[in-house]
Amino acid sequence: MKIAIIGSGYVGLVTGACFAELGNQVICADNDQGKIETLKKGSLPLYEPGLAELIARNLKNKRLQFSSNIKDAVRPSEIIFITVGTPALDNGEADLTGIENVARAIAVNMDGYRLIIEKSTVPVETGDWVRQIIATYIKDKTKFDVASNPEFLREGSAISDFMNPDRIVIGVESKRARDLLTELYKPFKVPLVVTNIKSAELIKHASNAFLAAKISFINAVSRICDTVGADVEEVAKGMGLDKRIGLSFLKAGIGYGGSCFPKDLDAFVNISEKLGYNFNLLKSVRRVNEEQLSFMLKKIKDSLRIIKDKTIGVLGLAFKSNTDDIRNSQAIGLIRMLESEGARIKAYDPQAMNKARDVLSRITFCADAYSAARSSDCLLIATEWDEFKELDFTRVKKLLKRPLIIDGRNLYEPERMGKLGFTYISVGRKSVS
Ligand code: NAD
Repeated sequence: MKIAIIGSGYVGLVTGACFAELGNQVICADNDQGKIETLKKGSLPLYEPGLAELIARNLKNKRLQFSSNIKDAVRPSEIIFITVGTPALDNGEADLTGIENVARAIAVNMDGYRLIIEKSTVPVETGDWVRQIIATYIKDKTKFDVASNPEFLREGSAISDFMNPDRIVIGVESKRARDLLTELYKPFKVPLVVTNIKSAELIKHASNAFLAAKISFINAVSRICDTVGADVEEVAKGMGLDKRIGLSFLKAGIGYGGSCFPKDLDAFVNISEKLGYNFNLLKSVRRVNEEQLSFMLKKIKDSLRIIKDKTIGVLGLAFKSNTDDIRNSQAIGLIRMLESEGARIKAYDPQAMNKARDVLSRITFCADAYSAARSSDCLLIATEWDEFKELDFTRVKKLLKRPLIIDGRNLYEPERMGKLGFTYISVGRKSVS
């Protein structure tokens, strides 16, 4: 099938490359000319495991193309995915400027039937609005359909998530749209949830809000664990083995971040309010998440006593492991808090340092975890990269001014760290020294 992808970021590139890999003819467009030039040269403007190889292979076999002109993508394609960003405005509302601009550009460039699909995460009823924009700007009475096909991939495992989803959700309002999307997703042997557009839009917001709620729930439980000396990892395991609850997203730590959960939660609260419902439950989820950073700061303060002029080695800047994405990273939020308390920061991240340089001007970027530990007053674990799990702790201990590790991701066994001679402070578990 002939597919256009408008918006070549994390979701657009993965979607485009995967559909090309499945034998479709795909053109990815973006209004960021620099990004398109980089892609045309065979480089990637972002880090996602396996994506560079997938793009290179499909560029070579000519199933994948890039363009900075939306027209180039719209003209030959019957199916058009909108995958532009939908960031949060200051009031929490989703900023749909990109969606509007793209919808208008599609309308003026269509020369025959098109199926226009929202893949970006958008508030409920955006589909109606997209339809209105296209109907307003379309040149003649060309037929079109709007559909919703929310994306559930996670950065860091995006290709495998896209290719092996738990389910595919399609919101459609015509047989033609339904048939096209069913055909496109035929190679995927997973449940297809076919519903209307509003329900599909809500499935995405409700899913992300629910996952964020799970994280805040276990973080709230971790606070009680800390107080009474229980172990949140054991509590989470005991809860999660109940199939009704499940183990995933029951990981206590410094809280959720990234380009999706915080803004999608805000947008869901905002649209609910507009529709006359005060979503207090989600406001609490957000508050617990925000408090988690102050709670970590207090742990650091309690162990260092004075933060001013102390050097803190920070491992991890990305909002999660296996990505270079630093949008709404809790690690960066925590660094900012420490900086405002007068700490000196030495940080290392396997992939996110280039992007972090743009937003953190005062910190020292290190070549590896050991350089971050060297002469630091403590080591703070802020992102759960695998390579941090396998450090040579004898070396780390020698490099640190004092053997203090504050672990915001519960990466290590407290007993082991105690035996290695560290003072080890984590989340919702007994500290050891
Ligand atoms: P991104 O910022 O990485 O990419 C968006 C791209 O759209 C950028 O390259 C930008 O230049 C381009 N763009 C913006 N306005 C444009 C316009 N008018 N014309 C052409 N291109 C334009 O964002 P992302 O992380 O890929 O997310 C895209 C959408 O998918 C968001 O709504 C997000 O919530 C949703 N989503 C993201 C993820 C994720 O893990 N990143 C997962 C599921 C859903």
